[in-house]
Amino acid sequence: MANQEDLFKNIISHAKEYGFIFQSSEIYDGLSAVYDYGQNGAELKKNIRDYWWKSMVQMNENIVGIDSAIFMHPTVWKASGHVDAFNDPLIDNKDSKKRYRADVLIEDHVAKIEAKIQKEISKASERFGDKFDEAVFRSTNPRVVENQKKIDEINNRFKNALEKNDLTEVRQIIIDLEIVCPVSGSRNWTEVRQFNLMFSTQMGSVSEDAGTIYLRPETAQGIFVNFLNVQKTGRMKIPFGIAQTGKAFRNEIVARQFIFRMREFEQMEMQFFVKPGTEMEWYNKWKEARMKWHRTLGFPESKHRFHDHIKLAHYANAACDIEFEFPFGFKELEGIHSRTDFDLKSHEQFSGKKLQYFDSDDNQNFVPYVVETSIGLDRMFLAILSQAYKEEKLEDGSDRVVLNIPPMLAPIKCAILPLVKKDGLPEKAQEIMDVLKYDHLCSYEEKDSIGKRYRRQDAIGTPYAVTIDHQTLEDSTVTIRERDSMKQERIPVDNVAKIVSERVDMRKALTQLN
Ligand code: ATP
Repeated sequence: MANQEDLFKNIISHAKEYGFIFQSSEIYDGLSAVYDYGQNGAELKKNIRDYWWKSMVQMNENIVGIDSAIFMHPTVWKASGHVDAFNDPLIDNKDSKKRYRADVLIEDHVAKIEAKIQKEISKASERFGDKFDEAVFRSTNPRVVENQKKIDEINNRFKNALEKNDLTEVRQIIIDLEIVCPVSGSRNWTEVRQFNLMFSTQMGSVSEDAGTIYLRPETAQGIFVNFLNVQKTGRMKIPFGIAQTGKAFRNEIVARQFIFRMREFEQMEMQFFVKPGTEMEWYNKWKEARMKWHRTLGFPESKHRFHDHIKLAHYANAACDIEFEFPFGFKELEGIHSRTDFDLKSHEQFSGKKLQYFDSDDNQNFVPYVVETSIGLDRMFLAILSQAYKEEKLEDGSDRVVLNIPPMLAPIKCAILPLVKKDGLPEKAQEIMDVLKYDHLCSYEEKDSIGKRYRRQDAIGTPYAVTIDHQTLEDSTVTIRERDSMKQERIPVDNVAKIVSERVDMRKALTQLN
């Protein structure tokens, strides 16, 4: 684990050193769990967003995209259940004065028991080789059975406590499991309290007139309240989807793990409106489609897994997460939820307006059911960054840090490098840059040795570097160097744009989604 921790630290400092992510307001010592994206981070983030948008909106004739406001009528959040139920149970340790999410303490405890089971399984799998049957082993090995029983008991007890909103019982579970504070090592816990995660502010200049409004904690509600606007103006027929990307805000109790859990973050959500009764079919389709989307980015299969929710949110009749193996373990990257007609029905009640679809095939009005896919753009960014970051030892004994970012997402597609800063090479290089910039975001660099410049481009994940040397002036050829293999090839300058285009084209990934 120490290794993974070091790796994660290295990734965080690399992200800062190479202009991907800065702490917000750093000169004032930062603002907790708020981050800024630098020149390379903003590009990578935009490319991930574009890939998502294209795969949702451009590739699906029945999905359209909108951009709703962050501020919404306060009743929206009453109707959605966020005012009353968007809470996390928090608990403090009296010795360390550290604050925790009670559910996370319990989940971490369960994860430790699960890790013991996994250890037994890998040991046995090594011992039995091809003959190993995990399902049989899980149901017969006494230690595994015993540990699984413990997990099930904890989960059941916890689920019951949450359903009854019994916070005394939640605290008792923590006491009974002898969970200690990781900082003080003590079991001196306060009561468990509910804490609402929405940020609020005042709208209007005169305080008496001012109403409390919220910064949206999810983008989904902007889609629900526009459901009929979009359906009518877009003449959409069910099943259809509405997508949007945008900022969301949550006053997270414990914000940690870099951009994994932020107080201001960006979501990419799609709500798919279906006929009641067909929602499970669509839920399963979207589960598969979303997993495919992740896999087309070239991650090894072992990096993702589904995790079904045991405690369903107040609006869901089925829900799962796609988890990604971050350097700190498997964690939620995306949620897929079957939200029933909860949101639209609730908005009908609170607004007094009908939010129904008229099905001309069977002459019927109904409130559609909804299947949602919801992914955090920043978490996706972290998944890509942590997978791409490699510390390599080269054949000549030197080291390099390279980001193997999928080329279509790389912040800069091609570096244009004059070998030396004289003899007309910079002018020639600039000429090439002026042609290439119409197709791709390129970067021109003339300072430092060529080796150093290659390393800098590797470190930000630029898939190609083109070097302009004296021969270029004679025969209009350049060397093109590929990031991952570091292979160099001499090619006519006119071929550069085509080679780069082929490699960075999103089309290949998009075709795999079908
Ligand atoms: P978690 O259990 O990690 O708090 P959640 O289940 O509350 O997440 P959802 O409400 O399902 O998350 O939000 C959908 C997606 O938004 C998540 O899968 C995640 O990628 C992203 N997300 C949620 N909260 C944050 C946050 N504080 N910082 C960054 N991304 C977030």
